[in-house]
Formats: sequence, structure tokens, C-alpha cells
Amino acid sequence: MPRTLTIFIDGVPFDQLEGMPFANQFRSRARLVPILGYSVNCQTMLFTGKTPDEIGFWCEWEYDPEASPFRRIKALLPLLGLADLWYPAKRMVHRVLDRLRWVSSTKNIPIPYLAMFNQTGNSVFDRGFDKESLLDHPEMTSFLHWHFANNHERDEVMFQAVLDKIKNEDDPGHITLMLAGIDHCSHWEGVASEPYNALLVDNDRYIRELTEAYLAKFPDGRVFVVSDHGMSNIEHHIALDLEARFGRPSTKRYAYFSEGTLLRVWSESGPLLTEISAYLDGIHGLQRFSDEDRAAQGITTRASGDLIYYTDDHHQLVPSFWGPKPSVGMHGHHPSNRSQHGICLSTGEHDFGEEVGAMEFYAALAESLES
Ligand SMILES: [Zn+2]
Repeated sequence: MPRTLTIFIDGVPFDQLEGMPFANQFRSRARLVPILGYSVNCQTMLFTGKTPDEIGFWCEWEYDPEASPFRRIKALLPLLGLADLWYPAKRMVHRVLDRLRWVSSTKNIPIPYLAMFNQTGNSVFDRGFDKESLLDHPEMTSFLHWHFANNHERDEVMFQAVLDKIKNEDDPGHITLMLAGIDHCSHWEGVASEPYNALLVDNDRYIRELTEAYLAKFPDGRVFVVSDHGMSNIEHHIALDLEARFGRPSTKRYAYFSEGTLLRVWSESGPLLTEISAYLDGIHGLQRFSDEDRAAQGITTRASGDLIYYTDDHHQLVPSFWGPKPSVGMHGHHPSNRSQHGICLSTGEHDFGEEVGAMEFYAALAESLES
């Protein structure tokens, strides 16, 4: 059985590969074309081979007033919602609500709307993920972000732990590790910023040292380097005011969830959805996710949104439930933008062509684990 080492790096765009000279020489080098959406689905597809329709969630949150954990304090939310008027007070209420541990984080969701939503999506790498994945393979050891202290040293510490395992054990088996520092850095410092470029160099060193050690131990082994999506810098902000046009969201009329580059709307009323889509269709920098595209990417259920919109490359919804301020770098734009393409590399000569989807990575890893 060929042993595999999978180095997963969150959010490395294919177009930044030249900043990683060692990784750029892998025998197979493909653009990883993601689906529309965030890491929670893009990562999960790589290791489960399942689309959002198949896995049962798209994005972390969905409209589900019956299952929302906040329905228990629904009567209290309008009062707590007064804090929305002053950001420091709002932050404080969010922090208190997060401490209840009903969800991982309430982010910037307006407090009165919380009882309409439920957090249903967990990435394959998250502690709460409870479905089958390739990480369950009996001979696989996974090194995940939450196994380590959350600080600036985390990737370095994880790299060292994996290197020690490879060097010290007679048979370290199959290994997957996930490095997340570069995604965080691109959100807050920007793609191709100075600290970002330094992290590319660090990640390239991790890849080189781990690959050399692994292939020294298993000359027939395979090393994969894969990222879930790309990233680009934000230049334009889009402000929406659905409340001013359509009134406050409620379970009787409509609900919306906005997060950085994505906007979803739900309503039982066809005429109201038509009105809302007419407004949104007219907003510069915002595009409707078409039914054909939704079918092709496996994002068709109503739970994912009656209407789904995404922002053009370099555009972000500000403010949104993702946060009150713009990010420097973002992802979640349509995969037809080349900036959103991740990487999929292998030391195997013919493993990948020029362009692959998450399913092709899944198939390659699954095949190595089975044989
Ligand atoms: Zn990210």
C-alpha cells in the first residue's frame, strides 16, 4: 500500500504558487477549482467527496427557526437587540451569547435575528464533524488546528510534530495535517502583503522538509499538497439595506443571511422573493447564483437559500453578518474567477491534470488508501 502524506493549507491561491519554489516543482500541479462557498464545504468535499446537497449543509448557518438554539430566549432577543445601536455593547452581548456554547460563534449576526438561524455546517476538520471521511481511515493520523494551542506558532508547532512522527516512528502510516495561518493572514493583511509572502516561504519550508522526510521513509509514498480555495484582495464595498426596503426580517415575511461575499434570502412568499430579487439584481457587484449553476455545483436545496447571491471578485458586503468592517483579503467569490482557485499538487507524475475539482483530489487520496 503506498503511504500518503497530505499537507492541507487553507486558502493558498494557485497564482501564488511561484512564491513557493519547492512546492512549485511537484510533478503534478493542478488548479483546484472550488465550488461557490466557504472553507466549511470546500474542505469537507476534499475528504468526503460529497457536495453540499449530499452532505446536508451549505455554509455554517441556515434558516431554521424551529431548530435554532436561540428560540429558547426568543422573547429576550429584541431587548438584547437594543445593543445593536452601539457596537461595543453589541460585541459584549455577542460574547455573552457565545459563552453559552450553543454555537461556535454568533459573529456579527444581528441579535434579534438569531432565533431564525441554526448553525448546521461543520468542516471535516472541526471537532463537531460527525460524518464519514477519509480522515477516519484506521491507518491515518490527522493533525488538526484544534489539537494545538491557538497562537501565531501553531503551524510551526504542528509542522514540527508531524516531522518528529515521520522521523521517529518505524511506520508513521498515512498522515494529514492542516495549516491555517496563511488564510488568516490573507484576511487581515492581504494576499501578497509582506507578512503573507513570509508565510508562503515558511509553508514552502514545511512542505520541503516533510516531503523529504516522508519520501526518505517511504520511497514509494505519495505526497499531496492541497488547498480548498484561493483568495483575493477587497477593493470595493457593497452596502445593502434590505430592512429599509422590505421591512425587518421575520418568520412571517422573509429572512436573509449576509456573509462577506455571499447573501442568502428565504421567504414563503413568491411575490416578495420576486421583489427582493429585482432589487438585488440591480446592485452593482452582486450576481445571482443561477439555478443551472446551483445544480452543477450540488447546492440546490431550499435550506441553502431561496435566493443566493455572490459578490464579484474584489467586492465585499460591508457590513455583513461576517463582520462590521471590510476584510483585506476574501474568498467565496464565484469559482469562474481564477483568483479563487486553490492548489492540488502531487509527487506522482500523472495524478492530476491542469485543472481539477475537489472530487478528483478525493478520488486520488481514496484510491491510495484503498489499494
Ligand atoms: Zn478564510
